[in-house]
Amino acid sequence: MPDGPCTVKRFLRILRNSATLLSFALCILTIVLSVRSCWRQDNILISWTTAQSLAPSRFKISGHELLLGTAGGGFWINWDYWQSIFGEFPTNPFYLPHPTTIGYKSNPSIPLRLQSLYRIRYYSPGDTPGRRQFDLRIPFIFPMVIFALPPALMLMSLRRRRKTGHCPHCGYDLRASPERCPECGKATSSIGQPSTSTAR
Ligand SMILES: [Zn+2]
Repeated sequence: MPDGPCTVKRFLRILRNSATLLSFALCILTIVLSVRSCWRQDNILISWTTAQSLAPSRFKISGHELLLGTAGGGFWINWDYWQSIFGEFPTNPFYLPHPTTIGYKSNPSIPLRLQSLYRIRYYSPGDTPGRRQFDLRIPFIFPMVIFALPPALMLMSLRRRRKTGHCPHCGYDLRASPERCPECGKATSSIGQPSTSTAR
């Protein structure tokens, strides 16, 4: 009999369980990437350059480079942006406009230098004009701990419910109804009694 509050409760439970499962999967993925990053350095480079004609023989060239990489137990995100005005269409291949390209490169790993977690650099006009760079470097341990928290909390809550004779599915007090949870309808053959039994 699906009535209002019960359906909402069940929906919230499914939502919470899915989020916890996703978090667990992300934690495993982070561990795998972290271990791999000690041997291999993986880079994904996305870049594009556009040209814009401003006036007769004045061209604005803009370049973007987004680098997503892993190395030595961490990952980094680097975004590089520059803009130059030219009196004639540039011949240097570096400045030639090109559509979005995505490249992948894998090299033997190097230690990820973590002198700062993030940094934003504005280049002086003497360097490449109008160039800005955003650099973010994060050790994998941070996302690993964050993604491990929800599954760990859920395990602790399940253990606590089992110990105190509450339904592991919804937390309802089962001491008065050891066979079946009156709240969610789940059979509770061996979980109703506060015991040290490990049966499911
Ligand atoms: Zn229940």
